[in-house]
Amino acid sequence: MLKIYNTLKRKKEEFVPITEGEVKMYTCGPTVYYYPHIGNMRAYIFMDTLRRVLKYNGYKINGVMNITDVGHLTSDSDDGEDKMEKASKRENKSPWEIAKYYTEVFFNDLGLLNIDIPEHITKATEYIPQMIKFIQRLEKKGYTYIIDDGVYFDVSKFGGYGQLSSKDMDEVGVARVEGSKEKHHPFDFALWKFVPDSHIMKWDSPWGVGCPGWHIECSTMSNDILGEYIDIHTGGIDHLPIHHENEIAQNDCAMGHQVVHYWMHNEFVLVDNGKMSKSLNNIYTIKQLQEMGYEPLSYKFFVLNSNYGKKINFTFDGLKAAQVSLENLRKLIQEHKNGTAKVSEEKLDTYKEEFVQAINDNLNTPLALGVLFSMLKNEQKSADIYKLALDFDKVFGLKLDEAKAKEFDVPSEVQALAQARWEAKLIKNWAEADRLRDEVGALGYEIKDGKDGFEIVKR
Ligand code: AMP
Ligand code: ZN
Repeated sequence: MLKIYNTLKRKKEEFVPITEGEVKMYTCGPTVYYYPHIGNMRAYIFMDTLRRVLKYNGYKINGVMNITDVGHLTSDSDDGEDKMEKASKRENKSPWEIAKYYTEVFFNDLGLLNIDIPEHITKATEYIPQMIKFIQRLEKKGYTYIIDDGVYFDVSKFGGYGQLSSKDMDEVGVARVEGSKEKHHPFDFALWKFVPDSHIMKWDSPWGVGCPGWHIECSTMSNDILGEYIDIHTGGIDHLPIHHENEIAQNDCAMGHQVVHYWMHNEFVLVDNGKMSKSLNNIYTIKQLQEMGYEPLSYKFFVLNSNYGKKINFTFDGLKAAQVSLENLRKLIQEHKNGTAKVSEEKLDTYKEEFVQAINDNLNTPLALGVLFSMLKNEQKSADIYKLALDFDKVFGLKLDEAKAKEFDVPSEVQALAQARWEAKLIKNWAEADRLRDEVGALGYEIKDGKDGFEIVKR
């Protein structure tokens, strides 16, 4: 039995699909205005693990992930600048070029992390007519009103508002009067925002030229592809109080019933115990880690060592340890590859059962990795164990069978020295950096610096 934590109910529940054997799943995708950071990638590692666990349980998935290439303001609650337009000014490119470039970067990262890509990838800019229709549907049912800067959703008309985050409607004060130029209630949100002529991304609509609100994207695209009933909706925890609350309001009011059955959220990655965000400028990307000599899958391994619902504190020591463990895991698996020992069916079944229990208990990947490690360590070298280990890797997606020629080429001692030198350089300790470079040189390797990292080559 597969159990998952449903944020909507605040408890672990048995997963029961709408249609037997099938899962309709929606994932909030990235806003493509800048490089995705390692925190963002946790949301997609979580999506990947969930998809893999569902597949391991025999489900066929119909998955959708959106690409937000328009209409996401710098604040989630309809204030600030449009992120795409802002990036366009910053980089002196059109918002379309910005979206194209960062979408490619995102998919490249998904590839580096061996992430199972959903069946449908939908771009917001390709769904504008459907979004307008969705808003019209809400308008007809009386859930909208228009003020100076756009068409708004009136949350006071939806009795279920706040159910996901236990928000209290009255807590923020009394609703303002109808007909006012401002939002009627602080939780009301824009469905369609009017934009000035200078705005580059804009479309005609029955209400005036503008852009769709961010939340309407996800409701429209999930409805268009998956229909009126959806099994699972995923996203990062920061989306829970505003974005997902608003999606529920739009969905349930337009359809007249509950649309999403299970809401699942991944917790945040912190850096040195603090918040990491594009706006705080303390981000690392997968590519940067790679340039520093870390294999991207080491980061995935690092993430899988915690449950998706717990915060993780990212440190380079933690990443280094993950890289070493992943290498050990691969070596152990290779040692079993041609092993001749015979392991009883009963024993193999027991390992498989322990593994399935772990992953089916709300994706307990740390425990599942523990089962894998102890199986590999405790059993005599056996091709049966090798096969079972690779079967488990269908869930981890860590490419455990890959003898990573390059990684094994550079001994971990050299990698650690090069990393220490890079860190010395970052704090401008030039003497120490030079000393470490010489040490690496004495071991037969050379460090080549790039803009954001380094590469190690053989001399
Ligand atoms: P965005 O492109 O800002 O919409 O973010 C893409 C995904 O990353 C969303 O699901 C966010 O909730 C998630 N996310 C953002 N920051 C972090 C973080 N530090 N740790 C984990 N997930 C994050
Ligand atoms: Zn969304």
